[in-house]
Amino acid sequence: MDLKSHIRGIPDFPKPGILFYDVSPLLAHGPAWKAAIDQLAEAVRPHKPDVLVGIESRGFLVAAPLALTLGVGFVMVRKHGKLPGDKVKHSYDLEYGTDTIEVQANAVAPGQRVVVLDDLLATGGTMAAAISLLRQIGADVRAAAFLVELTFLKGREKLDVPSLSLMAYD
Ligand code: 5GP
Repeated sequence: MDLKSHIRGIPDFPKPGILFYDVSPLLAHGPAWKAAIDQLAEAVRPHKPDVLVGIESRGFLVAAPLALTLGVGFVMVRKHGKLPGDKVKHSYDLEYGTDTIEVQANAVAPGQRVVVLDDLLATGGTMAAAISLLRQIGADVRAAAFLVELTFLKGREKLDVPSLSLMAYD
């Protein structure tokens, strides 16, 4: 299955000069999407997660079906202000300004093995922030996994756990 044929490059989004890798066609194609989730399951399974974490919002689309496939739980890391109850937060720098992500304080039990999912690895800032956040609540982060990796941005160098990706662009 040629998964890359289901990724669409959209020039000048969200800003002029940026080529955006749109994963929507992959999700819209039943057999290709199933193949992608099955391939990710094979890559993630050896890390023996107790829980998968998805990063808002496209990370949810990857982590939720993968959690069902692996028979493990699914936890959300969300943008500031979206989650109810007791939360832990982490702020990180963007190109312009900062962003804050949150997780519910009891979402992962201390010592639980976690693999964190997002649709795409670019500079690695988002995933590095999510890993820091999850460690604040005691998670044992075993790996980070993505559909797509933009290797030329060297995001995996920001991560101190193994990075798994199905498709790479350089
Ligand atoms: P990073 O923090 O690694 O620079 O950026 C990754 C985050 O931004 C991910 O949450 C991802 O969803 C989003 N992102 C950045 N560029 C793209 C892109 O070209 N395509 C998609 N689908 N997401 C992107």
